[in-house]
Amino acid sequence: MRSYDVIVIGGGVLGGAVAFYLAKQKAGRILLLERNVIAQGNSSLAAGLLTRGRFKPDLISMVLETYAAIHEIETRTGKSLDTRRTGCMYAAVSPEHQKNLRELAAVSAQGGLRMEWEDTARVSQLIPWLHLPRGASLLFMPEDGYVDGYLLASGYIKAARLLGVEVNENSPVSALVRQGDRVTGVRTAHEEISAATVVDAAGVWAGLLAHEIGVGLPMAPIRSHYWITDSHRSFSPNQPFVILPDARAYARPEFNHLLFGFREKKSASIHPANLPVSINGITFKQDPRGWDTLMEGAPKLSLFFPLIEEIKITSYIRGLSNYTPDGNFVLGAFPGLEGFIAATGCAGAGIAMSGGIGRLVSELITGQQPFVDPTPHRIDRFGLIDPQDPAFIQICADARSGKVTG
Ligand SMILES: Cc1cc2nc3c(=O)[nH]c(=O)nc-3n(C[C@H](O)[C@H](O)[C@H](O)COP(=O)(O)OP(=O)(O)OC[C@H]3O[C@@H](n4cnc5c(N)ncnc54)[C@H](O)[C@@H]3O)c2cc1C
Repeated sequence: MRSYDVIVIGGGVLGGAVAFYLAKQKAGRILLLERNVIAQGNSSLAAGLLTRGRFKPDLISMVLETYAAIHEIETRTGKSLDTRRTGCMYAAVSPEHQKNLRELAAVSAQGGLRMEWEDTARVSQLIPWLHLPRGASLLFMPEDGYVDGYLLASGYIKAARLLGVEVNENSPVSALVRQGDRVTGVRTAHEEISAATVVDAAGVWAGLLAHEIGVGLPMAPIRSHYWITDSHRSFSPNQPFVILPDARAYARPEFNHLLFGFREKKSASIHPANLPVSINGITFKQDPRGWDTLMEGAPKLSLFFPLIEEIKITSYIRGLSNYTPDGNFVLGAFPGLEGFIAATGCAGAGIAMSGGIGRLVSELITGQQPFVDPTPHRIDRFGLIDPQDPAFIQICADARSGKVTG
């Protein structure tokens, strides 16, 4: 029987990040198992915003860790991840959103982030497609950027490989092996592989593996989606990306096109038991092509982006992220069960948080002092839950619908 110190299940951005940090911390022999091909799960679909501004200081530290990881991957592999450091512009209009923005700025300033309050004239010059209602509060974070999720996930895995991590593609884990109060390894179609620690970083599929051994991960697969417009002279790749809480929307340049997404009032979900084995098989019963969401969101977005009324939409991209009821992640051990660690529950921010999650999870595994408090992300923070209960899935969907930040 093959034997490892750590097995990581899932070759997405989170499995890749965990493997990378474990290897850096010399956590022994590490095997990463990917059911399909690495980096081609939901990570490859992300808009890739690396938004540093957060309402919680620990989350800022976690995103900063991702920027540090990007730099380190580029140094180690000698390849650029092509991160676009365009900066991020927040535009808030209603008194409520302006107050939230001031709070975001205060927490972010304490976290050491650079920012500037802007006036409409300068913003209109920087982002000509953006129409600014009178009195809008405009906050610019010049160091923010975005990255291609495929490049980042494969970058982590490439760097992990260079550090000695073994990576097996086309290797689906069919089950976790549990013996009493311990997970001792994994089962695949051909073999059982043992490990002192198994990390479940299988993305939206992570809950299924855990469920089979009696562990309920408090999260559900909820749809995220965005649209890309035709090219237009007012879009350019160097423009900042934009967060518009009043329209529950974000937008960023995609070369000379514009990519934009909304958080709709009723987010669509997929019951975990109905998940296909790859993102290519995903279909949604509710609003399958996203038109209803577009019709719901467009009127508010048009106040900021009048061109939406006439410009052609050329692409629609949708995928799944794990949402939790409180917007925190699902990380660490399950009480009373040795050898099992979760690295999931990304709350739609797995690209931005990947460095922080990778570092935190590897610190928990190697017994080091965690660089941020892991308590908010504990698996058991809601007590015993059934993640396959439709009522619980609805709570997670509602958590996405309520999200207004990037
Ligand atoms: C449309 C969209 C836009 C988004 N935009 C952003 C954004 O702007 N910023 C941001 O930070 N985040 C964004 N996200 C969220 C982000 O994409 C996710 O948080 C992140 O990709 C989660 O990474 P993951 O590694 O958990 O999942 P995945 O990338 O899906 O990886 C999981 C991997 O596990 C593998 N796997 C599953 N089961 C098994 C098994 N049994 N055995 C072996 N392998 C298995 C899968 O094949 C897959 O490769 C967006 C998501 C979507 C869908």
